[in-house]
Amino acid sequence: MLYSSSDAMQLLESLGNLMESKIMPNARRIDAERIFPRENLDMLFKHGLCRIPFPSRYGGLELPYPVYIASLEMLGMACASTGLSLAIHCTVCSGIEMFGSEEQKEHYLKPLIHGKMLGAFALTEPDAGSDAKAIQTRARLDEHNNSYIINGRKRFITNGGYADLYLVFAVTEKGYSAFLVDKDCNGLRIGKYMDKMGVRGSTLTELHLNDCIVPKANLLGEEGKGYDYAMEMLHTGRIGIAALSTGIAQIAFEKSLAYSKRRYAFGKPIAEFQMIRQKLADMHTAISAARHLTLSAAWAKDNGLDYALIAAEAKLFASETAKMVSDEAIQIHGAYGYVDEYDVNRHWRDARMMSIGEGTSEIMRLIISHRLLRSDVL
Ligand SMILES: Cc1cc2nc3c(=O)[nH]c(=O)nc-3n(C[C@H](O)[C@H](O)[C@H](O)COP(=O)(O)OP(=O)(O)OC[C@H]3O[C@@H](n4cnc5c(N)ncnc54)[C@H](O)[C@@H]3O)c2cc1C
Repeated sequence: MLYSSSDAMQLLESLGNLMESKIMPNARRIDAERIFPRENLDMLFKHGLCRIPFPSRYGGLELPYPVYIASLEMLGMACASTGLSLAIHCTVCSGIEMFGSEEQKEHYLKPLIHGKMLGAFALTEPDAGSDAKAIQTRARLDEHNNSYIINGRKRFITNGGYADLYLVFAVTEKGYSAFLVDKDCNGLRIGKYMDKMGVRGSTLTELHLNDCIVPKANLLGEEGKGYDYAMEMLHTGRIGIAALSTGIAQIAFEKSLAYSKRRYAFGKPIAEFQMIRQKLADMHTAISAARHLTLSAAWAKDNGLDYALIAAEAKLFASETAKMVSDEAIQIHGAYGYVDEYDVNRHWRDARMMSIGEGTSEIMRLIISHRLLRSDVL
């Protein structure tokens, strides 16, 4: 195991119980009725999930990063909508911890990790997704009023409409920069809520910034360094998406294993057919590999190593595994997998997002190959 302290084990056990008893039973309803999982988030905040990796001086538990990642895997099993919402929130927390001033940590990080505020990460725009350098949102310094004036439009923003704080990326005359924008900032408006095929409980909205006035003190870190900050936050966030993906794959596998033992065809359980056994073996092997890669990435981050490469590998492998496993889960369930009576089609829809958000599989392959070639590994 990568973590061993009894505090960590106790916390994981209590979070596991909470997810099994309170969160998993509502996951189907949250998806079907597109309910924002506010209650789930509140319970998880109360149990300290978001405080796990952060320093104690801000109220964090200072436990190893793999403990947080193991919790996210359980959450991926219990309810992927809640998992996505929480993972993005925690990415914002990490950004403030890494690059924020002491005042910003007091003012924002503390309430965020305690769940008194919810965060959203606003990078993507209608014409800038993978090519994040192409953002058109602009910020102008107004020295007279000690503030920045931001204009632009963001799209596909998780937690949009429910977040209290938006971490917005915009270009100033000094370059790419990051801003902490309060939800009631003058000039900030939540745009269209976008319906989607999976993770339906978490919201996805547009964000309109029209002469949005942000105090100068809300610039995150240094002006002009925002692109590096965004990439660093994404490296961190990708380990979380890998964990959610592993959790989705694990629950789809468990349901398939149980079903294969009770579904009869040709006079015996389908689990006795070699082709079904091969599927189960391949699914389980891929999940184990995804979990180990993901925890290794978390361990590398925790130990101050350069973890961008392994985080991309974990995100790529785990998200593709979630797609493969949830697809095979539908196949094993036959027609029951295709209809809504069983949950596996929800897992398949949830898994589909994981190889797109926080960087597509194609972009993960670009990052991995770029790192390998740069360091002359090949
Ligand atoms: C459910 C969900 C939640 C999200 N939440 C957030 C959020 O909270 N905050 C936020 O800022 N964004 C969020 N996003 C946006 C997400 O990060 C982007 O969708 C993603 O980065 C891809 O951008 P795009 O959709 O514009 O695709 P594009 O960049 O337009 O890519 C289209 C296709 O081209 C491929 N492609 C692009 N460039 C290359 C290349 N150089 N080589 C090979 N292939 C390439 C891509 O892999 C993809 O297959 C979310 C998306 C989803 C689906």
